[in-house]
Amino acid sequence: MIKAVRGTRDLLPPETALWNFVEAAARDVFRAYNFQEIRTPIFEETQLFARSVGEETDIVSKEMYTWEDRGRAQSDKGQSLTLRPENTAGVVRAYIEHKLWERGLSKLFYIGPQFRRERPQKGRYRQFYQIGAEAIGPATAGSESPARDAEVLELLATFLDRLGINDWNLELNSVGCPKDREGYNEALRKALEPVVGKMCADCQRRAVTNPLRVFDCKVPEDQPIIETLPRIGQFLDEGCRQHFEQVQDILKAVGVPFVLNDRLVRGLDYYTRTAFEFTHGALGAQNAILGGGRYDGLSESLGGPSAPGIGFAIGEDRLVLALKESAEAVMRKPDVYVAPLGAGMNREAARIARELRRHDVVVEMGDETFRLKKSFETASKMSAKFALIVGENEVKAGAFALKNLETGEQVSVPRGELPQKLQSNRNS
Ligand code: AMP
Repeated sequence: MIKAVRGTRDLLPPETALWNFVEAAARDVFRAYNFQEIRTPIFEETQLFARSVGEETDIVSKEMYTWEDRGRAQSDKGQSLTLRPENTAGVVRAYIEHKLWERGLSKLFYIGPQFRRERPQKGRYRQFYQIGAEAIGPATAGSESPARDAEVLELLATFLDRLGINDWNLELNSVGCPKDREGYNEALRKALEPVVGKMCADCQRRAVTNPLRVFDCKVPEDQPIIETLPRIGQFLDEGCRQHFEQVQDILKAVGVPFVLNDRLVRGLDYYTRTAFEFTHGALGAQNAILGGGRYDGLSESLGGPSAPGIGFAIGEDRLVLALKESAEAVMRKPDVYVAPLGAGMNREAARIARELRRHDVVVEMGDETFRLKKSFETASKMSAKFALIVGENEVKAGAFALKNLETGEQVSVPRGELPQKLQSNRNS
């Protein structure tokens, strides 16, 4: 038997209703904050990720699905392509390619699959979904302002609250500018020198190539050593310090709670200044529900103009896991099961169903060969609220028997009144 590949999975009903619910809520919130949708390709040139996410990150060094293209055209040959492991790089590539700065500040959101060859476990998949957004543009359009950071964080708090996820935690840090990081990396290298021999192989490599990445280490034995390392906070210049303070100030003013976490450096190289993560208690080991931050130099490092930006990516799979208990409440059940009774009644039932659906009534249909008992049983099994009997007598009379499947009560309703009757008794 052929099964879905390890780390990938089918999303089935009723869970898909929850996915749609989450995505609809996201679209609503994005609209209120004036974000518009972008859809970038699922695969890109490999060097896009190497140059933005960073060669030394786990994502680029171990987790990408990369292959050499063997298209027909000469220019295709040997081109290295990669399934996107995240979407910020693609969005910034599109920003540069389409000169989106000509519109001032671009506020873009995306919803879609990402691919990383990670060890699969609950909440961690090889094809997973992210809902993300980027606010990027020339500094003159206000893209650098701490007000932007606070706006994005406040949007996220609003979104999670809207979904009924209340027990989230916002962890906040500033990773400074590249210059601050140079000084910090130097200090880290020095601090690591005498102790790195006792650390894992990854950390030994990181200590040489990119010491900041030591903070990504998950090996328990390394943690006490990491605890003793200097923190980025002491290395921020005045501009970065003030920026970070203003972000915190606005968050306090709008009532978004946060905690400072000076170990939070995020697993991607392009971050500058504000870095953040929202965690959620119910998720266990994979408790990061979303992450993001500022990436003021990213556009330039990809050959574009200066375009400070800030963005985030929400792990949609984890969001849905956190919401799972509410799946029943979110799924819309049929308002009515239309039961054609006797030969020739399928066509009458189809006409009535069409009319009702035009009035936004959720309709399921039986078949004229079903006995009434079977129709009622089928309707109850799918939790339809009503069954509507469409038989020859009803069609002649222009009024139909409507049975409430919860109470058993049955009434005759004239055809013209059906939509209204069903709308006012909608299954919620
Ligand atoms: P990142 O792009 O690594 O900052 O990830 C942002 C969010 O995407 C994380 O907080 C997770 O919620 C989610 N995420 C990242 N990797 C995976 C994965 N392999 N499976 C499921 N969700 C993931």
